[in-house]
Amino acid sequence: MQAPAPVAVLVPEGRGVVTLPRTIQVGELAKLFELSVVDVIRALVNLGLMVTINQTIDYDTAALVAGELGIEVAPEEEAAEEPEATAEETSAAARPVLWTDDDPARLKPRAPVVTILGHVDHGKTSLLDAIRQTNITSREAGGITQHIGAYQIEHHGRRITWIDTPGHEAFTAMRARGASVTDIAVLVVAADDGVQPQTVEAISHVRAAGVPMVVALNKIDKSDADPERVKGQLAEQNVTVEDYGGDVPLVPVSARTKQGLDDLLDVIGLVADLKDLRADPERPAIGRVVEAHLERGRGPVATVLVQTGTLARGDIVVAGTSFGRVRAMVDDRGKTVNRAEPSRPVEILGLPDVPEAGDIVRAVPDEKTAKALVEEEQRRRAAGAAGERPATLDEMFAQVKEGKAKELRVVLKADVQGSLEAIRSSLAKLPQDEVALNIIHAAVGDVSESDANLAGTSSAVILAFSNKVDVAAKRAAEQLGVDLRQYKVIYELIEDVQKALVGLLEPEMVEQVLGHAEVRQTFTAGKTTIAGSAVLDGVMRRGVQARVMRGGSPVHDGRIGSLKRFKDDAREVTAGLECGITLESFNEVAVGDIIEAYVITARPRTA
Ligand code: GDP
Repeated sequence: MQAPAPVAVLVPEGRGVVTLPRTIQVGELAKLFELSVVDVIRALVNLGLMVTINQTIDYDTAALVAGELGIEVAPEEEAAEEPEATAEETSAAARPVLWTDDDPARLKPRAPVVTILGHVDHGKTSLLDAIRQTNITSREAGGITQHIGAYQIEHHGRRITWIDTPGHEAFTAMRARGASVTDIAVLVVAADDGVQPQTVEAISHVRAAGVPMVVALNKIDKSDADPERVKGQLAEQNVTVEDYGGDVPLVPVSARTKQGLDDLLDVIGLVADLKDLRADPERPAIGRVVEAHLERGRGPVATVLVQTGTLARGDIVVAGTSFGRVRAMVDDRGKTVNRAEPSRPVEILGLPDVPEAGDIVRAVPDEKTAKALVEEEQRRRAAGAAGERPATLDEMFAQVKEGKAKELRVVLKADVQGSLEAIRSSLAKLPQDEVALNIIHAAVGDVSESDANLAGTSSAVILAFSNKVDVAAKRAAEQLGVDLRQYKVIYELIEDVQKALVGLLEPEMVEQVLGHAEVRQTFTAGKTTIAGSAVLDGVMRRGVQARVMRGGSPVHDGRIGSLKRFKDDAREVTAGLECGITLESFNEVAVGDIIEAYVITARPRTA
């Protein structure tokens, strides 16, 4: 998506914080902001939202607009929602908590987190939906449930959290990232179909994770349901159900008729009791990203499952390799909340970047701590891929030719999950006999400064697909000498990596700007015009190429003929100094022109 262009609106000084309701009409918002409707609509358009004056927008959107316009806003406190907390009370800085570990004295029971696994078509999704529909707490019934990647229900006064992405792929992907959010695994087996290949896989994954298992024997309503056969098949997989003298509970259910769902939830409650799941709700939050994506108008949106502590709106959080402030939180009913206690999934807004599923989210007391943690995480990720490594595809090319390189490390950023996955799977198929490909970070979103830092600290190249690179990222990449390549066509990205892997990249000519000088005076000596100039930045160097810019456009491109400092010839004049510049075959240089010196260097091909 396109980043919004800055909106040039002068906001009167001293306006203070504007309080906004949960939803507001665009026209009303303009009034509150004391701005013209046109300015507000323009800001919305910049955020990618086409709206009219009478349209109603939600608080999050209004807050984004406010951010665009440099106006500080706060939500109106709504007594009905979270009466116990005001923004100030909940903000991290105001909470009198230690920024340390769980305090055993404060540990309180927390809701179990459950993941559903099993063979395709055995009813995982149906079961998740049935549980969600029948167990929304009565007060909130009627509220639209949102698919945010996880949801929480209440059953006989106890909360149970469900991960909304069934199947062991997601479960294992999270585990691969060191994230074990699941407390209990529900293995769904269709009573009419029995144990199938993915049932067996799911059993292995659950075992590997060391998570207790409950079997939901689904589709019990079907006439050809055969529970005994399934129990026997499970025993063959060393899953011995309680009926057979084992310790794995099995509950016959039907997602269709809702039969047995209560029993299933009771059993999950019992298993949770045995595990005695506890967390310290008073400490600052630590959680995991369950799902994250970039959303038009809302920016990066991440569903976070708080594992311990309480996450509060206003908290500064580190998520993966970046940090931000929790601007808003929305629960699985689409309700804005101020706090999320352990095991409660919430969508958070305010991160600068889209984190990855499995990333740790940690509330910290201040930006300094956040920065330190981000650096630590970057170092950790870099260390995960240790050894001497090439920093750029060029060096890669050289090292492959010399037979030195062993691994090419990549930070991959793409516009959407779909392209990210497509690229990832294509890259995985490349032959890696000579050089192994190591994707140290792959995420959806624009290339950020933290990506550049990560690549810098781990000698990785950044491959960006159909997204943008923000200014800070570009600067960081330049400073760190990170090879940052942008692509619009997946094939070209793959091809470049493939060439790097086999050492085939062709050199290309690249321009490097050396510095700028401003012409302050002109003198003539014979036929030549000398530009008396002040070097603004970088250096002016004799003999290099230079462009003369006038009113922002180039009027000449040629070589710097001579360079003088006072009366003496100089090879180079640096920023802050004055000099006399003559340009080969160009005598029309004028006061106010900017001379931009640059060199062209050959380097292996870039995208
Ligand atoms: P998933 O692939 O495991 O997520 O399975 P789905 O939830 O998509 O269900 C697969 C099919 O089985 C769908 O056609 C469902 O309607 C059907 N189904 C799921 N649960 C039941 C059940 O309890 N009884 C019956 N008769 N059909 C079910």
